[in-house]
Amino acid sequence: MAKKIKLAKDAVKSNFSNSEKYDMIIIGSGISGLSSGLIWLKNTKGKRTLIIEKNSYPGGFVTAYERGGYVFETTQLLPDVVNVMDYLGLNMKLKEFKGTFMRRIVVDGDDVSEYKIPAGADNFIKYLSSIFPEDKKNIENFMNYGVELFAQVRKLKTIPTFKDKITTPFVAPKVIANLNKTYSELLDKFNITNTKLREVMETFSAFSGVPSDRASAVMSYGAMLSSMNRCFRPYGYFDELPAKMAGLFKNLGGEIRFSSAVEKIIVKDGRVKGVMVKGDSSMISADMVITTLDPMLGMRKLVGDENLPEKYVKRLENTLMSPSSINIALGLDDKIDLAKMDLDYPYNVLSTGLGTTEALFEGFLAGDNGFAEDRFHAGVLCPSLTTGAKNTITIRGVPFALNGWLDWRKNDPKKYAAEKERWGDYFIDKIERYMIPNLSKHIVVKDIATPATYSRYSGSPTGSIYDMATLVTQFGPKRLPMKTPIENLFQPKFAHGIYGGMMNGVQVVDLILDRAFNDGNSLFNPR
Ligand SMILES: Cc1cc2nc3c(=O)[nH]c(=O)nc-3n(C[C@H](O)[C@H](O)[C@H](O)COP(=O)(O)OP(=O)(O)OC[C@H]3O[C@@H](n4cnc5c(N)ncnc54)[C@H](O)[C@@H]3O)c2cc1C
Repeated sequence: MAKKIKLAKDAVKSNFSNSEKYDMIIIGSGISGLSSGLIWLKNTKGKRTLIIEKNSYPGGFVTAYERGGYVFETTQLLPDVVNVMDYLGLNMKLKEFKGTFMRRIVVDGDDVSEYKIPAGADNFIKYLSSIFPEDKKNIENFMNYGVELFAQVRKLKTIPTFKDKITTPFVAPKVIANLNKTYSELLDKFNITNTKLREVMETFSAFSGVPSDRASAVMSYGAMLSSMNRCFRPYGYFDELPAKMAGLFKNLGGEIRFSSAVEKIIVKDGRVKGVMVKGDSSMISADMVITTLDPMLGMRKLVGDENLPEKYVKRLENTLMSPSSINIALGLDDKIDLAKMDLDYPYNVLSTGLGTTEALFEGFLAGDNGFAEDRFHAGVLCPSLTTGAKNTITIRGVPFALNGWLDWRKNDPKKYAAEKERWGDYFIDKIERYMIPNLSKHIVVKDIATPATYSRYSGSPTGSIYDMATLVTQFGPKRLPMKTPIENLFQPKFAHGIYGGMMNGVQVVDLILDRAFNDGNSLFNPR
């Protein structure tokens, strides 16, 4: 019999003391919940703190799992979170991708272009200028502007005081000027009109499945620069990150209760009182609660519309959560030599040309998907080249809507299985054609996650995988606030991703502690 594969996440056990009262309860042990818990305990010695998690292990979307003797991972890259990791005391052996940050293949009919996007903004400028020499000046201007803009984000305060509001236009004028700008407007401003160049630049708004004419310019620059500047992954499996965070949290005296779903956040007279866990007959009370769940679950269901001001419910109704995804995880035989396939990059992206993300997003908004034979966008990852484990490939198609997936899984398993196969074949065919010849001949294990999988796994009613969509209309002051209308109930929502999750912890603890640790800064810049 094959030896059971041991994953770091499975070694993390509950240490719930069954206490009925805590100073702080955090719902969810994803990166947001764990970083909130860790930073909270680092800055408040001795506070009774409990993280409640519905899964039997920590990590949420950052995880690894075994199927048929292969280990698959959800996440593929860690942006530049090294400063926060050092602050938390997180020691992990990380592989830094110093050369190419992304391999990008663009298919336009018979025309197939390939780009190797280098790590580092300066290298990126040089590289693009060598391919598009006539646009050299525009590229330099666009990128230099972005670097300055991103530097000014450091000057912003999470919740500005009156004084901050007066000074912000002077210390961060570029941010203020672009708060309502889309990424596409900035590309226009710098005359990035060459179709091919524009397609490469739009990669960064497409990261989260949002087209450039809707994506926030500040957010897209942020996504581009924070991942391009320094980009890592663990040498081991990704679940090591949450497992280590959970271990540190426990060392600081925190408790974690696994396999326990919160089914109600209890509110009395506009103030949070505690939570009810499924199967328990009494409430666990807490002075403060942080929810790290999809707001459509955390606020609308667990708090309940009836306990929220009408205006806030309207705001929730008008909030668009990011799309869902189809993920095809493949375990391959050992006859394929993945090292020869030029895949050892944080991200390999295959898509059709300009206009693809817009059309795919329209499909998602219409409640389905916009993929077609001549329109696709997929991320391809090859983690086994780093972990050294048996050959694996993951193909990720974004954006998909929940559509009929939940219903099929529940009421029509045959249809559900057939749809999974159909989409699996669809994506494998594209990757085989443009990236990994004969891929299908080497498949030993195929594990397909659908929008219904993501919905069940995270509790998000729509299977959203990247939190609130990064639309310009949901950016900055227009994002759902961390302070909810319920006193002492907090909902940190910096942005999606591991970086975003860690910033959630930074921002929410700093807010609760009245700027005691990060001086109110929106990015990590502790006193
Ligand atoms: C397939 C995939 C690949 C990705 N790749 C990357 C990447 O390479 N790099 C990157 O930076 N980001 C990536 N992301 C995004 C990133 O993983 C997420 O944005 C981030 O991990 C979110 O963390 P979180 O803690 O906010 O939420 P989550 O990870 O969703 O954590 C929420 C937790 O709450 C728990 N929960 C839900 N309901 C309840 C309840 N009722 N009671 C108790 N607990 C509950 C869930 O089980 C979960 O553990 C990826 C996401 C996906 C889905």
